[in-house]
Amino acid sequence: MAYEKRELLLIGGVLFFMIGLLGTGLSLIYSVIIAVAIYVGIKAYVGKRKHALAKQLGQGICADCGSKVEGGKCPKCDTNWRKDN
Ligand SMILES: [Zn+2]
Repeated sequence: MAYEKRELLLIGGVLFFMIGLLGTGLSLIYSVIIAVAIYVGIKAYVGKRKHALAKQLGQGICADCGSKVEGGKCPKCDTNWRKDN
């Protein structure tokens, strides 16, 4: 599954970051705490983003710029559409 691959990449990246922190002379416990904090932070960010995307998909997304469509119009491309009309 693609999702699991991304999960492994994230864990791998965090582990490499932790090893990098250890290389700077930081103690193991602090390196682990920082690595776990980053992992949890990224997971929370991705979860929030997924939730926001699902919300946007419910109302529709502009095919040109990807921003949320409001009232059947894209707020970003609105000016361009007026020129066309
Ligand atoms: Zn747009």
